[in-house]
Amino acid sequence: MDTPRLPIYLDHAATTPCDPRVVEAMLPYFTERFGNPGSRNHQFGWNAEEAVDLARERVAALLGANEKEVIFTSGSTESNNIAIRGAALMYEKAPMNAAPSGAGGRGHIITNTIEHKAVLDPCKRLQKEGFDVTFLDPGSDGIITAEMVRAAMRPDTILCTVMWANNEIGVINDIPGIGALCKERGVIFHTDATQWVGKMPTDVEAAGVDLLSLSAHKMYGPKGVGALYVRRRKPRVRLTPLVDGGGQERGFRSGTLNVTGIVGLGKAAEIARDQMESDGRRLLALRTRLESQVTSRLDSTQVNGHPHKRLPHLTNISFGFVEGESLMMACKEIACSSGSACTSASLEPSYVLKSIGVGDELAHSSLRLSLGRGTTDAEIEFTIEKIVTAVKKLRELSPLYDMHKEGIDLSKVEWAHH
Ligand SMILES: *Cc1c(COP(=O)(O)O)cnc(C)c1O
Repeated sequence: MDTPRLPIYLDHAATTPCDPRVVEAMLPYFTERFGNPGSRNHQFGWNAEEAVDLARERVAALLGANEKEVIFTSGSTESNNIAIRGAALMYEKAPMNAAPSGAGGRGHIITNTIEHKAVLDPCKRLQKEGFDVTFLDPGSDGIITAEMVRAAMRPDTILCTVMWANNEIGVINDIPGIGALCKERGVIFHTDATQWVGKMPTDVEAAGVDLLSLSAHKMYGPKGVGALYVRRRKPRVRLTPLVDGGGQERGFRSGTLNVTGIVGLGKAAEIARDQMESDGRRLLALRTRLESQVTSRLDSTQVNGHPHKRLPHLTNISFGFVEGESLMMACKEIACSSGSACTSASLEPSYVLKSIGVGDELAHSSLRLSLGRGTTDAEIEFTIEKIVTAVKKLRELSPLYDMHKEGIDLSKVEWAHH
């Protein structure tokens, strides 16, 4: 088999390349079609508005939504903030000035510990400002169930936010189940669907979702553009805007629209609708081969997260008895993510892996490999060989691995402390 071009990109959960068809659709809107869609009196404005309308229809079609329910933003981080903070401020029980003393008086919010920071941090800020927030712990499979959410519900719950699919381990939550529960209780339901939309079929009606965040650059569109779905009936969701100004996007998000980006997102949505099924099927076969080869040829490895409630193109594998940084170094021809997050001072183990019970050592020696539309058979074959060889070589140097092979139970060894 041919050697693929190196390095191999297996980090599509971090960002995807723009599909060439997306770039082609965008180009005229930088130059001859440069108008501001807010210019209502001339052809330049009308051209831009028409392009934005088409993109809105395409995004709506991808979600099973009405085009009036699509708000364009700068990406999922902004969509999450507009949704979570905007809903909390709109539906709070006791506005800050009128709130009785003590925390939590403004209302209750349910989320969980393995959300993206773009959900966790807005929730934490609201907590500081007097909202009560429940951070549910997933099980060891990484899943948040409707039952967990039900058990956390209170009479003053105003908002629930649970991601559709997790960005580190790819596990898929029961969004329709949680949506039905939130409807029953009259709780606004937001989902960060950044990793889900464009890869898996989405129907906001069937799922009972009120607010949904998505981002173009996770689905073969450009960076810096995304959307928020805001339900308009049953119920009509209102949000307190975070940015005031020209009143664009029905007042939810003021500011001149990023027309080129929006055109790109629309094109990416159209392509995804066509192609997600065949892409998904092909990548699932490649992912299955990658996982089964790596785990059968190497002992002391584990695939993290639920065995099958997972996105088809992503895998997160922990390798025992290797050191995380050495593993990344040995695999530098494979562009992927590790189970470590760089904070200002040090390498921290991933909080997601920690939350599902993966120990610190094992978290550091984990790889997240996320496949995409351009991933080839040859790339996956190369990746399998590379990882297997690297792990075997690193283990040859590991005294712990020797002890493990000799049958010594390492958890019972008394280490000398210096
Ligand atoms: C990438 C990602 C985000 C952030 O999206 P941006 O568009 O880069 O702001 C939020 N949530 C999840 C789950 C993501 O994967």
